[in-house]
Amino acid sequence: MPTSRGEGQEDSHPTILNRGGADSGGGDAGDGGGAPRQVWVPGPVIVGAGPSGLATAACLKARGVPSLVLEKDSCVASSWRHRMYERLRLHLPRCFCELPLAPFPPGTPPYPTRDQFIAYLDDYARAFGIEPRFGARVRSAAYDASIGFWRVTVDEDTGDGATAKEFVSRWLVVATGENAEPAWPEGVEGMGEYRGVAMHTSSYKKGDEFRGKNVLVVGCGNSGMEVSLDLCNNHAKASMVVRDKLHVLPREILGISTFGLSVYLLKWLHIKQVDSLLLFFSRLILGDTEKYGLPRPKIGPLQIKSSTGKTPVLDIGALRKIKNGEIKREILQVVPAINRFTENGVEFIDGHREDFDAVIFATGYKSNVPSWLKEEEFFSHADGFPRKPFPHSWRGKNGLYAAGFTRKGLMGTSYDALRIAGDIADQWTETFSSPTSAHRSSDHGA
Ligand SMILES: Cc1cc2nc3c(=O)[nH]c(=O)nc-3n(C[C@H](O)[C@H](O)[C@H](O)COP(=O)(O)OP(=O)(O)OC[C@H]3O[C@@H](n4cnc5c(N)ncnc54)[C@H](O)[C@@H]3O)c2cc1C
Repeated sequence: MPTSRGEGQEDSHPTILNRGGADSGGGDAGDGGGAPRQVWVPGPVIVGAGPSGLATAACLKARGVPSLVLEKDSCVASSWRHRMYERLRLHLPRCFCELPLAPFPPGTPPYPTRDQFIAYLDDYARAFGIEPRFGARVRSAAYDASIGFWRVTVDEDTGDGATAKEFVSRWLVVATGENAEPAWPEGVEGMGEYRGVAMHTSSYKKGDEFRGKNVLVVGCGNSGMEVSLDLCNNHAKASMVVRDKLHVLPREILGISTFGLSVYLLKWLHIKQVDSLLLFFSRLILGDTEKYGLPRPKIGPLQIKSSTGKTPVLDIGALRKIKNGEIKREILQVVPAINRFTENGVEFIDGHREDFDAVIFATGYKSNVPSWLKEEEFFSHADGFPRKPFPHSWRGKNGLYAAGFTRKGLMGTSYDALRIAGDIADQWTETFSSPTSAHRSSDHGA
């Protein structure tokens, strides 16, 4: 299990230079009058202790650079611990989900379970000696051009109320995730009127509490499909709103993971040719999905993924349930698909009403970067992602970096972590090998 930051650990943290005793409780280093206490950090500040933050900290450590990881929750991998349903397995084979410098332990199945992945991340943090500062929610981060450093303001939960602190560093790594917050559909009225259960998939744990219930799942990406399947397996009556056309692919083709096959084929063939092959095999294995109310877009699955980031659904059994009617579809192409909630269910856009005991929104997630990062050149304020797509999404200006915003899952995380660590390590070595710049740097930290 990960360790919560214990008493006194902050004083022994190798990356923190206390400024005037500020961080050791010896008074404010700010200008008094309620200014946050200030802590100068020699290495980079990494925001988020999910896979991306951990991978970046590990790669930095391997290059001899200490870092400070700030995590709002009380554990590493909090998204996986608190927001993923119990039946979840990695969607992609483990070889595409390993973080740099540490493979999964022997005996891990090809598609690790959620718990196995969490255990892997716990071990990973331990192996690299990564001790995030827990309960540290970054409220704002801004570049101070007058000193050439980032000022990162944190609300820290100390147990007896939140206190503000300011960490000052030359480098800021944003690793708060593409999926930081649940996304709810806009424009659905009457939710307050509804007397049933309305929840997001991030709060869904398992289907047994819905046994015998009539449940509507809104959204049919990987999460919507899997939750519907889990509900059926737990004898709930699941209906699914299918708003858009979508690609459903088998998880494996001829015993090889569809993802792995695509990665391999893309080395030799054009993306359109790979898409044609995937669709040919999908039709052979899954049949014509349109017949079951799941029409495919005209553009192929990999082309859509590459241009919009939208992931095709990898079927792990939901399609069979849809085929034999165990999952009922509400095929509504018009947005928003649900017009309004009623007291006992929903009214759909076509006017028909149906009663549901529960409505589960599988409507995805969004980045929370715009809520705290005071920077708009590298990160877009509209969606909280870097403006430049992969492979240029990892580095901004003035020591700003993004880890895990590639729309390429954990493979993208590894790519970012290695590049960010290499880039910062080069600057670190340069700074500390030159006596003048080392002196300058310690001036800031003294
Ligand atoms: C259901 C689901 C299944 C997935 N399956 C796969 C898969 O099989 N393979 C794959 O490659 N990818 C998968 N992904 C995509 C992605 O790899 C994971 O979401 C992964 O957890 C991303 O890691 P991350 O560290 O970038 O973000 P996160 O895991 O979300 O970690 C971000 C961390 O930042 C912290 N944080 C956020 N805001 C602040 C703040 N202001 N201050 C301090 N801390 C903050 C959070 O508490 C969190 O701990 C899946 C995603 C989902 C939603």
